[in-house]
Amino acid sequence: MKTNLDPNFLASDDLARADTILRSCVHCGFCTDGCPTYQLLGDENDSPRGRIYLMKDMFETGQVNAAQVTHLDRCLSCRNCETNCPSGVAYTDLLDIARGAIAQQQTRGVMNRVGRWLLRRGLGLPALLTAVFEGARQIGRWPGLATRLPVRLSPKRSSHPVVVTQPTQQVILLAGCVQKAATPNVNLAVEHLLARSGIAVVRVAKESCCGALNYHLGDHAAGLADMRRLLHTLAAAGPSDAPIVSSASGCGVTLKDYPRHFPLGDPDHELARRIAARMVDVVELFDDHTIKAAPMRVAVHTPCTLSNGQQLVTNVADVLSRAGIDVLATAPQLACCGSAGTYSVLQPKLARALQAKMVTALTTQSPEVIVTANIGCQMHLGAGTNVPVLHWAELLWQQHEALLAVPDSKP
Ligand code: SF4
Ligand code: SF4
Repeated sequence: MKTNLDPNFLASDDLARADTILRSCVHCGFCTDGCPTYQLLGDENDSPRGRIYLMKDMFETGQVNAAQVTHLDRCLSCRNCETNCPSGVAYTDLLDIARGAIAQQQTRGVMNRVGRWLLRRGLGLPALLTAVFEGARQIGRWPGLATRLPVRLSPKRSSHPVVVTQPTQQVILLAGCVQKAATPNVNLAVEHLLARSGIAVVRVAKESCCGALNYHLGDHAAGLADMRRLLHTLAAAGPSDAPIVSSASGCGVTLKDYPRHFPLGDPDHELARRIAARMVDVVELFDDHTIKAAPMRVAVHTPCTLSNGQQLVTNVADVLSRAGIDVLATAPQLACCGSAGTYSVLQPKLARALQAKMVTALTTQSPEVIVTANIGCQMHLGAGTNVPVLHWAELLWQQHEALLAVPDSKP
């Protein structure tokens, strides 16, 4: 693709990257078919190729218009287009550059900007999140009120402290901002399951946000500051070669992507590379360990942040099948359920349409439970179905304990 970008519109490093990315696109359209927003709306401007043309136009004219903002805001950042692109076009990087430019130009209306500001501030306050989700959990105890809540939250499980006497391995476990408040059972389950395999968990003191929230809402300076803070916290936490584990695939993909945000020449470039190399999703730790579990009919939802973002496509289903769980076939799933960070709040109509399609695909064989690997997807899908939606680790722990409770069972 030929380009003639306005040198005054973007900072020089963004300009150079945008130019390289745009030139790598050959307009073939292989990315288009699997794009969830194109599948839903059928408009080329809501496809990756169409959005690339809109961004090119923005960077060449040095002007941001309302149509560009609308179609770029509808993108889920699900990365399905990157997975399908034969030319290796770095679409996500290009989109991030465009979103940063849109934020700089202040082209959004006042209410839109206030809403985004409130989201960034509200979701960035751990104490507020804990209070909100704890309140929702208490309301959910009242019969008749639980079904009126926009999210379903399991009651907190009580647990004895997990002690691994002679660990074979130590890992650093990220708690996650929203997950810690909304589904505290998940990391408890992870800790118990890892202990079964002789793996001990180190918690991170003063863990802060991974930066995804601010960055994806276009505040790049605040997002980078969050990322830098977490980089240094993780560098000081636990053994320097221990894997760093995330059980929320949305946070995990952000951390694995840190080197993109700290290029050569940045004082934290090397640190970002080292931390990203140590990052694993929790499912990767179970590739070599089998935990047996009581059978159950389960449908697996694989978040785009796990499949397209981390190339871990079948790992959750494989771990559950090896454990003895009956993993059901599902109808073809769209690339994204519509949760996509703050997308379900900012684009509620589209998010609900994607949610409905995903729930239909997941429930074709009437599962007892749907499992997923990311807190945002768990809450979003859970609000769209009466089938319980759990993190797969929570389900595995629950079914493992159920098996232990059966006399003479040998897991
Ligand atoms: S598949 Fe890749 S090269 Fe082809 S149009 Fe899409 S982004 Fe461009
Ligand atoms: S990131 Fe997802 S929603 Fe956005 S253009 Fe690519 S495939 Fe479509």
